[in-house]
Amino acid sequence: MINYNKPYLTGKEAHYMYDAVYSGKISGNGKYTQLCQTFFEEKYGFKKCLLTTSCTDALEMAALLFEVQPGDEIIVPSYTFVSTANPFIMRGAKLIFADSSPTNPNIDVTKLESLITKNTKVIVPVHYAGISCDMDAIMSLAHKYKLWVVEDAAQAIDNYYINNKGEKRPLGSIGHLGTFSFHETKNIISGEGGMLAINDSNLIKRAEIIWEKGTNRASFFRGEVNKYGWVDVGSSFLPSEIVSSFLWAQLESMEMIQLRRKEIWNLYFNGLYDWGLKTNVRLPEIPDYSTNNGHIFYLVCPSLQFRTKLIETLKKQGIMSVFHYISLHSSDFFANKHDGRELNYSDLYTNNLLRLPLFFELRNEEIFKIIETITSNKYF
Ligand SMILES: *Cc1c(COP(=O)(O)O)cnc(C)c1O
Repeated sequence: MINYNKPYLTGKEAHYMYDAVYSGKISGNGKYTQLCQTFFEEKYGFKKCLLTTSCTDALEMAALLFEVQPGDEIIVPSYTFVSTANPFIMRGAKLIFADSSPTNPNIDVTKLESLITKNTKVIVPVHYAGISCDMDAIMSLAHKYKLWVVEDAAQAIDNYYINNKGEKRPLGSIGHLGTFSFHETKNIISGEGGMLAINDSNLIKRAEIIWEKGTNRASFFRGEVNKYGWVDVGSSFLPSEIVSSFLWAQLESMEMIQLRRKEIWNLYFNGLYDWGLKTNVRLPEIPDYSTNNGHIFYLVCPSLQFRTKLIETLKKQGIMSVFHYISLHSSDFFANKHDGRELNYSDLYTNNLLRLPLFFELRNEEIFKIIETITSNKYF
């Protein structure tokens, strides 16, 4: 039996958790929280990082920081996880769903400008499978219309956008804010967990306050004020040290984890390339402006029927493959609120996209078995 995912443990997690537990400080914003936040700030140049209990939480912080309110319009892809949308609709905003690009599930930037109105406040690009959106195109529209941008980089840890001058910029560092997830299905994990990266320095002070339940507790602990109290709205967004100590063990092994995931991704790509051409199955296409972080290896099948057959074929050999999102514009919750525009590519990925097993401990023999099972089947 080959599962779709298996959370990887480096072996140090319990050690650091033990240290956190017996240090006498297990609430948030202690030693391990600081270690993790500094790691990200130094490695990727984010101006300020705040660990959160999930990427969903980090997006909720973004909605508060941008002061999203009824009447605002927020542009999000339809082919994404609910957490890209929920934080904004919870503040009473109107969601405007963008279609995916013909070449990959990311927002189609060629149609983005037509979605902008005088009420638009925020664009939320999602880097699906960790693959970068066309960030220069998005940021220049944001600049032109004075919009906020929060990158949903939940899947995009340690990946980069390359601009037309050849400069590499870490995903999550380009928008005003970036959000990350450490859910057990992601590359780097802490069970549940996330992070807000703040790139616009004007937002840092308020972000810390919102993070600490609307109080100036963080600046009190730095000795900047001599008492702390209620200064703004906020909630409890910070994880305990038990969670951040787990995350620290993962971050120490990040390079090794990323290398192996990319290796697995490349084995799939090379092993399925000819079969893809023959059967009209599209393999992931990485644009020139993106690097790869080996988060998801997906196939875009020629039809829903083809995908169903492929899932069954793999399952007979004990291999679990999984499709992904049901487009939000056609979800039970949103279908009757959608403005009726057809989003053909979102629908295409909803029906035809399939993900193959990809996790650190997946062995080469298993990868070859998966490739063989796919390519040797007569049906295709
Ligand atoms: C996983 C994921 C989220 C949610 O992350 P949590 O940490 O589980 O809240 C949000 N957006 C995208 C694109 C994701 O893949």
